Amino acid sequence: MYIKVLVELSAFNIDKTFTYHVNDELSSLIKKGIRVLVPFNNQKLEGFVLDIINEVNEDYEIKDIISVIDNEPILTDELLELGKFVRDETLSTLISSYQAMLPKALKAKNGSKVNIKYQKIVEIDNLIGDITPKQQEIIDKINETGKCSYTELKHINSTVDTLLKKGILKIKNVETYREVSNTKLDYPRHELNNEQRLVYDEIANNLNNNITYLLYGVTGSGKTEVYMELMEKVISLNKTCLLLVPEITLTNQILKRMEARFNKIAVLHSGLSDGERYDEYRRIKKGEANIVIGARSSIFAPLENIGIIIIDECHTESFKQDVMPKYDAIEVAKYRSKINNCPLVLGSATPTLDMYARASKGLYKLLNLPNRAGKAKVPKITICDMTKEEHIKNSNISKTLFDEINKKLSLHEQIILLQNRRGYSSILMCSNCGYTMKCPNCDISLTYHKTKELMRCHYCGYATKKINICPDCKSDSLKDLGTGTEKIEEEIKNLFPMAKVVRMDLDTTTRKGAHDRIITSFSKGEYDILLGTQMISKGLDFPNVTLVGILNADTSLFIPSYKSNENTFDLISQVAGRSGRSEKEGEVVIQTYNPDHFAITLASKNDYIAFYNEEMQNRLVGRYPPYFYLTMVTVKSGDYELVSKEINRIKTILESKLPDKEVIGPSLGIPFKVNNQYRFNILIKYKKELDLKLVLKDLIDHYKSNYKIKIEVTFNPNNI
Ligand code: ADP
Ligand code: ZN
Ligand code: ZN
Repeated sequence: MYIKVLVELSAFNIDKTFTYHVNDELSSLIKKGIRVLVPFNNQKLEGFVLDIINEVNEDYEIKDIISVIDNEPILTDELLELGKFVRDETLSTLISSYQAMLPKALKAKNGSKVNIKYQKIVEIDNLIGDITPKQQEIIDKINETGKCSYTELKHINSTVDTLLKKGILKIKNVETYREVSNTKLDYPRHELNNEQRLVYDEIANNLNNNITYLLYGVTGSGKTEVYMELMEKVISLNKTCLLLVPEITLTNQILKRMEARFNKIAVLHSGLSDGERYDEYRRIKKGEANIVIGARSSIFAPLENIGIIIIDECHTESFKQDVMPKYDAIEVAKYRSKINNCPLVLGSATPTLDMYARASKGLYKLLNLPNRAGKAKVPKITICDMTKEEHIKNSNISKTLFDEINKKLSLHEQIILLQNRRGYSSILMCSNCGYTMKCPNCDISLTYHKTKELMRCHYCGYATKKINICPDCKSDSLKDLGTGTEKIEEEIKNLFPMAKVVRMDLDTTTRKGAHDRIITSFSKGEYDILLGTQMISKGLDFPNVTLVGILNADTSLFIPSYKSNENTFDLISQVAGRSGRSEKEGEVVIQTYNPDHFAITLASKNDYIAFYNEEMQNRLVGRYPPYFYLTMVTVKSGDYELVSKEINRIKTILESKLPDKEVIGPSLGIPFKVNNQYRFNILIKYKKELDLKLVLKDLIDHYKSNYKIKIEVTFNPNNI
């Protein structure tokens, strides 16, 4: 028997299967989709079995495989196909696509193995001979259930060892899973209201149709409640459900709500250890879970017989992976829902313009939940003009927000404050000579983090001690510009000394479970004010929060991107949606220096449609998506001379091969240098894709053997 094995040769960006021989002894163990260990040059490599063949005509010496790694395929037939789809969609390699689909423990990589955990289970083997009363206690315990864990029996008394030695009892090693689920929560089940019922009926009546729905429902309209009802229906039909949510909402509430209602849930997110991930994956694979809830990569969960795929907060950028393979989980979801012939539900309070445009054209079926569910009303939103307002004690807090906060504190209601920037301040600048401290690896200023007195690079992770004397002019007048969450926290504690404040941003949530702890204690009322970055904007449901303050709505407005209006509108709508989610009426205060900007005024009126119409005009005029498609070609190298020469060559090639498309650039990457790699971008703008992928594939292939230059292609990039 011969097999074709796909291995990862990380130094080369190539995809190649190699043929190996399998001796008779191992051949019965070979299946498509398992991993095997093979000799390669002078190393041993793990690879995936892609094909089993009987004849060979290779021009190299065919070697024998060393061993078989898996009993069961880890790449099912569907996953094998999905990998090819991802490769074709993203122009990456097949091997990198498969690796991205699998948890670490199952990638074809050598070293650092994650183990399966076993538990010692004791059973009765052969009940003969005299039994003492103490021994009888042990046997009675086992008889209760037929088997019992060794540790448990050992706790009763130690005669278990004697019984084992005599052969009366025997030990079996049984696979167990690491416990990932945490505290259960009681969550009331709601009778769907009429609007929810309409949405439910439409989808429930089409469970055997591959329709993509866009569920546009304002925050708090009860989308999650509808999802749960649908999932219940799907499970009653003995099918499975896949629910994707943004990474950050995952560790908390939505999961607890689901767990209150379903019992065979598997969860996949980056907060799990490798071992936990592996165990969850195995539970799914064995059919022990019928619901998978997870972030982006769980779109590849090895669920069989999928009956519905739901993507909540589908506008979230993180559904698109920003490293190779740069797949879009929503596109993969479309493909998987097609294979499984089931509906795909995209839910959001602020769909992307692209999604809403598709729905308007009938490519997606539009469903609406225009009102908040239950007794909750849409919060009252006040725009606070920071050019005119008094700042309390020179802080970032306006008089209006200050008064509102005090009012809510006296009512013992809770407050969420959003400051969309982490760290104590964005940069430390010398007010004498203008010096700012830059990252030695990247073309970017370091961010000052006060708690640890560190200067950090947010791109490569470089960190160094804070300086007190300017290295250029030797003055000691280094000042912090900007206002990160840490600085605001200090201001808030100053202005409201009686309030209990908790901060949530990347810095306070690095440790495992930290995110969950903050959310849980805030929801229990242990804090009055939750201050955070956009991390707090999505999905959270705290009934006692009646005030949301957006400290600086302009931060996202002036990021140079064609999407900055849309991002600003989203962010305001999403955080505003955290206020007044139960009977108590909610308020929102938006602080801005641009009170008349349409993204801000329309967000404050909750008018998505008006925003959509106006912004679509801008996109049309600017020739941006969804009217035009964009694709970014990034060329990177550690060699500045080389890359600045090649980039122009590449531009010329693209121009000549893509006469129907606009080829824009090259422009410098922002930042230009990351991790000592210089980066240039070329942007391609077009109406019709045609042979774009072929041309780009040729380009990538051409540079494959050139290890000094890396080419990356991003379709529909998030950031430009
Ligand atoms: P979304 O996912 O659209 O933000 P949720 O499903 O979280 O909305 O619902 C918002 C709030 O309204 C939750 O507290 C939820 O329990 C409640 N809710 C949802 N549906 C109903 C209903 N039919 N009747 C009463 N309350 C409801
Ligand atoms: Zn200086
Ligand atoms: Zn850096």
